[in-house]
Parts: sequence; structure tokens; C-alpha cells
Amino acid sequence: MKDLQPLFPEIERPGEPLIIAGPCSAETREQTLDTARELAANGIRIFRAGIWKPRTKPGGFEGVGIPALEWLKEVKEQTGMLTSCEVANRNHVTEALDAGVDMIWIGARTSANPFAMQEIADTLQELKADIPVLVKNPVNPDLELWVGALQRIYNSGIRRIGAIHRGFSVYGKHLYRNVPQWHIPIELRLRFPNLPIIVDPSHIGGRRELIAPLSQQALDMGFNGLIIESHCNPDEAWSDAKQQLTPEVLNFILHTLVIRAEKETTENLTLLRQQIDRIDNELLEILAKRMEVSREIGRYKKLHRMPVVQATRYNDVIASRLDAGTAMQMDKSFLKTILLAIHDESVRQQIEIINDRAK
Ligand code: PEP
Ligand code: MN
Repeated sequence: MKDLQPLFPEIERPGEPLIIAGPCSAETREQTLDTARELAANGIRIFRAGIWKPRTKPGGFEGVGIPALEWLKEVKEQTGMLTSCEVANRNHVTEALDAGVDMIWIGARTSANPFAMQEIADTLQELKADIPVLVKNPVNPDLELWVGALQRIYNSGIRRIGAIHRGFSVYGKHLYRNVPQWHIPIELRLRFPNLPIIVDPSHIGGRRELIAPLSQQALDMGFNGLIIESHCNPDEAWSDAKQQLTPEVLNFILHTLVIRAEKETTENLTLLRQQIDRIDNELLEILAKRMEVSREIGRYKKLHRMPVVQATRYNDVIASRLDAGTAMQMDKSFLKTILLAIHDESVRQQIEIINDRAK
């Protein structure tokens, strides 16, 4: 994907994040136009609204469908904003392009499905489409699947391509609705430095109060823009009510965000990076020490013919470390991953000792 072109050359300004905003769903003509007018008055230039909504269970609001495309036309006529909606199949692409939508995005449930991605790509190619296409990360944390989805769009001839980072699904309750796992979009950026990456704090956070900190984090990490859900009456929204902001609150947040110039921060960044290097070395030394103690325990167990894993001890160890770690403000699922990995490796080393493969 070497010859990608800017997504919105008429709007983009160097060093400034691209902002896309609008309701999760277009619900009524009035709600769509009211929201759009307020956003436009606050300087938003690109409007989003879901028209076909992929819902987890049947019976929810599945979007207005084709009639809402007329409302997007009105948004464009009345406010001058560019318009966008989600597409998930051949029909959606055809209808959206026919209606003159300026940009389309592919949702997280669709980008996880290569059949659907290929169908969308084939349709874009057949229609000789030339619009920006944004591809959300798949719901599961699979960078290759995300890259594959982007490549299918590229192979269809589209050159204005962007990625949207909207976090990843995990089972159980977490601080975030979809955990960010920032290292995945960072890896995507390393692989495709010219691919714009837009962060979606609304679907990562799932809650209003997380939008501002997540947006700042996205900008601090140098991502290229934000797509944020905004609704004229969020509490009454027909989908994703908890995470939508009024245009006024969105405007306030956007004005509080700090866009850091690279030059000003490099000095501090160097110091912080030195600190990280030092801490990482300390972590490695401590880990090596811990493994040495584990091996010592292995030798002891061998001598006394004891089993390697004692279930009660194992449960106590994990539970007490989780309590301590969460009290230190660390995420529980992150801690679990680390602690289980360390424990597994300790067990592996002890088994080696017991089987006499190590001393
Ligand atoms: C959306 O943008 O409203 C949406 C459905 O998002 P996602 O595909 O990220 O869940
Ligand atoms: Mn939504």
C-alpha cells in the first residue's frame, strides 16, 4: 500500500487531527439534521451516521436504512459537511455511492469477515468508486485480519484508505467497552507509515467520561484523527446512548485537547524513554531472579518427591498478586496475563529440573 493518497485533501491541515463526528445512528430526519447543524456550527467538517446497524441480538434498532440516505443529502446541502456511513455488503455500498455519500467506513464485525470484505471490495471495483474508505479493526485483536481487510480495499483500486482503531472485544467486564491494546495500531503504523489511523474513543470507551482522556491519549501517540459519536439528545439515543456526547460537550472536549508539537516534546521524551529503558532492565533482572528461585524450589521438590504444582498455593499466589496489582492501579486482565505467563514459565522450568534436563 505504497501509493496511498490523503483522505480529505480539501480539509486536512498538516499537524492537525482529522475530526469526524455524528450520531451512532441516524434515527429521525429531525435528530440527524439537528445534530448536524450543531456540529457544523462548531466547525466539524465530516459527519458520520450509521444507517445500517449491526446489532448483537435481533430485536434492537437496526437502522433506518435507505430513507436515511436522503437525510445525509440534506445534511450536506444545509451544512456543507461531508457525509459518511457504515457499509457491510454490496447493497449498502451501491446505495451509499448512489446517494452521493462522501466517505464510507467498514465496521468491526464486517472487517473480521473476509467474505464480506471481498464483496465490498468487488463492489467498489465494479463501480469504479473513488471515495475515502475507512476500515475499522476487526472485533478480535488480529492485526493480520485487519491488514487483510485493508489490502482487499487497496486491491479494489481505492487509494484513499484509512484505518479506524476502535478497540477489541474481550469477555467479561472491563474499564473499557473494547480494550484499546494500543500496541496493535502502533504495529499497523510501523508496517504502513503512510496509512492514516483514526481513533474511535466512543467505541473503545463505551462511556462519556472516557472520551476526553482517550482522545488525548490518541493524539499523544501521534494518531491522525478522531471519530467521535455525538447526538443532539444522547440520553434518548436509540443505540450507544451511554457513549454519545452532545455537540456542545464534544466542542468543549475538542478545545481542551492538546496537540503536542514533536519539537517541544522530544527533550522530555528522551528523558522518559531513558527512564523506561532503565525500568525494563530492572524488570528483566527481577524476573531472572524470580526464575532462579523457582528453579531452586524445583530442586527442593525433586529431592522431596513433591508435585510441581500445588493448586491451593497457585490460587493464593495469583489472587494475592491480583489484589496487590489492582491496588497499584493496574488493569486486572493485564495483570492476569503477566502473572499466568510468569507462573507457566516457572512451572516449565521446574518440570525440566524434575525430569533432569536442567540442574
Ligand atoms: C459504529 O461506528 O457505530 C459501529 C457500529 O462501530 P463498530 O463497528 O466499531 O462497533
Ligand atoms: Mn455506535
